[in-house]
Amino acid sequence: MEILPYGRHHIDETDIQAVVDCLRSGALTQGPKILEFEKAIASYVGARYAVAVSSGTAALHLALLAADVGADSTVITSPITFAASSNAALYVGASPVFSDVSMDTINLSPEALIETIKENDNVKAIIPVHLSGLACDMSSISKISSDAGAIIIEDAAQALGANYADGRKVGCCSHSLMTVFSLHPVKSMTTGEGGVITTNDMHVFKRLTRLRSHGIVKEEDAYQCLESAQTEGIPNPWYYEMQELGYNYRITDIQCALGLSQLHKLDKFIERRRLLADRYDRAFSDTKWIIPAQQSGREYSAHHLYPVKIDFKGMGLTRAKFMNQLRERGIISQVHHIPVPIQPYYKKLGFNMDNCPNAQDYYQQALSIPLYYGLTEQQQDYVIDVLTELLS
Ligand SMILES: *Cc1c(COP(=O)(O)O)cnc(C)c1O
Repeated sequence: MEILPYGRHHIDETDIQAVVDCLRSGALTQGPKILEFEKAIASYVGARYAVAVSSGTAALHLALLAADVGADSTVITSPITFAASSNAALYVGASPVFSDVSMDTINLSPEALIETIKENDNVKAIIPVHLSGLACDMSSISKISSDAGAIIIEDAAQALGANYADGRKVGCCSHSLMTVFSLHPVKSMTTGEGGVITTNDMHVFKRLTRLRSHGIVKEEDAYQCLESAQTEGIPNPWYYEMQELGYNYRITDIQCALGLSQLHKLDKFIERRRLLADRYDRAFSDTKWIIPAQQSGREYSAHHLYPVKIDFKGMGLTRAKFMNQLRERGIISQVHHIPVPIQPYYKKLGFNMDNCPNAQDYYQQALSIPLYYGLTEQQQDYVIDVLTELLS
């Protein structure tokens, strides 16, 4: 039986050749492909700078460090996200706070955000998550955020290739200090593992570059200790400076060679996902048991996932049984996401869903069904048929 996962990457011969060429070139890491990839990403999203790192999670961590968000700060994010969004706040000693989502987008609700800011002290950063590649209402969120004196780091891990409502590309940072992307295989495009941060702020860019590699600086004009850097006015050839505590969050040239090759196909990937999402929309338009979870703005989404809401309770079904029935027919579904506050680690820290009724309601009904570039229309029709049969 053919197995249809909820998402998967697409690698072609050009990608393979790009990686092989890189392996033959001699530069495996810290070579020319990284800079080339960063320039290509910056230009694609329309931001001044991009910094590529080892994962989306590393990107979130560095973004908070580069914005000086640390102990005693509050960081607000969505409960419907992958754990990495709020874990990053914990990494830097800040307190994550979860704010409810809007029922029509499953993204941070601007109205709820206003209340959450009122209820919490020292809100230093907001991390809106563009769930399944659908951009949040960034013009409202950025206004609320700047009124509160907080910075914005967009978690666009699922949204490379998506647009905002105004048509600009997610990642151009017109409404944020930084935007973070993931290049994990299940996302829009991949480098195997990887992440990238975009920004228009030169200071932030330099800080990110330094933090990615141990906090070490190799540019002469940035040295702090000139007497160690020079001998009789001449630069010491071996010299470098560690100026703050950084990490090894570097990406490799091999990964960036793959990333460059994938980036050329990104628009094609998204276009295909959009077409398949439209087909699902049409197929489910006259059943009341299955509703696309995100109702507005999907025309500019990157369609990383196809999340639907199914009224399992109303149908006298359990989601577990339903997912197992799908699996028996070769269809792998998943739930995106288990609300972070109910994860045992967060529960122990005292988190709960009391302030997030919409997120709770969505979670009860959520299911992501197969959507990826390589899904054929025939395979999609099969998914539609099986769902319709099981639900009618
Ligand atoms: C995938 C993902 C991340 C983490 O990215 P990695 O590259 O896997 O570290 C963070 N946030 C969200 C919303 C994600 O979907």
